[in-house]
Amino acid sequence: MEYKKKLIEVALPLEAINEASAYEKMPGIGPHPRGIHLWWARRPLAAARAVIWSSLVDDPSSHPDQFPTEEAQNQERQRLFAILEKLVKWKNSNDPEILAEAKAEIMKSTCGNPPALLDPFAGGGAIPLEAQRLGLEAHASDLNPVAVMINKAMIEIPPKFAGQPPVNPNSNLIGGMWAGVTGLAEDVRYYGEWMKNEAFKRIGHLYPKVKDEHGQTHTVIAWIWARTVKCPNPACGCEMPLIHSFEIAKKKGKTVYLSPVFEDKKVRFTIKDGKNKDDGTVNRKGASCIKCGTPVGFPYIRDEGKAKRMKKQLIAIVAEGRKGRIYIEANDEHVFAAEVQKPSEYPDAQLPYNPRNFNTAIYGLENFSELFTNRQLVALSTFSDLLSDTLKKIIDDAKTSDIEDDQLSLSDGGKGALAYAQAICTYLAFAVSSVALKLILKSQMR
Ligand SMILES: [Zn+2]
Repeated sequence: MEYKKKLIEVALPLEAINEASAYEKMPGIGPHPRGIHLWWARRPLAAARAVIWSSLVDDPSSHPDQFPTEEAQNQERQRLFAILEKLVKWKNSNDPEILAEAKAEIMKSTCGNPPALLDPFAGGGAIPLEAQRLGLEAHASDLNPVAVMINKAMIEIPPKFAGQPPVNPNSNLIGGMWAGVTGLAEDVRYYGEWMKNEAFKRIGHLYPKVKDEHGQTHTVIAWIWARTVKCPNPACGCEMPLIHSFEIAKKKGKTVYLSPVFEDKKVRFTIKDGKNKDDGTVNRKGASCIKCGTPVGFPYIRDEGKAKRMKKQLIAIVAEGRKGRIYIEANDEHVFAAEVQKPSEYPDAQLPYNPRNFNTAIYGLENFSELFTNRQLVALSTFSDLLSDTLKKIIDDAKTSDIEDDQLSLSDGGKGALAYAQAICTYLAFAVSSVALKLILKSQMR
């Protein structure tokens, strides 16, 4: 077969592709497949879509019979560019007309028989996802099991259950049509909510509400903690918090900062409105004591950490106000509330020693479990335990639905109650894992 030059080998509308790729990274553009789980070095979907499409579509110079002159070829190329420029736009990602037009060009250039695509190192799955979008048979693999699960959840599982209505008991009330994976998505939402409510029954009491200065109670969004070490200056000995910035909210129209109040060898923080340009007590070069100003190098902090003398201090509470977030001073009740027993069982392992990439080990935090507070460990274990209860519940609900029960698991190619329940639990497990991962990444120190 005569080799035909592909569009990607000749020219691409790079500006439009770059622009679409940058747009995708902006916050607030709506749900993005990357939201399923964190993965490193994700590639923009627009770029993957453009590369796949232009690797399959012939460059007009490959068809001198149809486009004999350079001018004719240029004109045809501009027509193809116009299709590609529409195709890469975020808002057109699921536009059936634009996708059909793009697919038609692929069919034309491949004599109606497009090749399958294999991405052997698929990572976050941008390439196989876009191959599937363009109507190709997509295959993906990766050495990392998390990447494999991301690809399964994004590419393999949804088409299996496409067009199916949800199985949850509320769905009868909703009624309506369940095109694509809207049924599956509805069940993920329903059982996710169910898990949240069950978790609240089990551990909600560990998360007290907070009172503001007017005595009104509010739901807490976050407790802000700082790590502390004892000031090496013997005349001071203050338990010094390591804080990057005193400003804890930096939003337009709402800036709030921590103002220290010294009490013997301790410091507490009141919360004030306005800006505070003061440096925090720790930066890339080292730390300083908040009370006496003594410079404190990282070697001292690391030694204190290794000797298990590093502590933590609650420095502020973020809560839901009537008009957005409010910031409330730390108090003993909320410090005690966090002092819960570790769960009786939880997975643990030693962190890989690789301080350049992840440096908690040089501060004496050597195991995964040490990166979480006890209360976080309890919450993560509770959600993890709830997954198996949720699985059972979905199987029961699915058995009373129209879904055919083939008794096979997802990995055995099943499509029945068990496989469907496992599919939903895959997405819910990703939600739990995402929380754990965010907490791990937050525990990284400078
Ligand atoms: Zn000091």
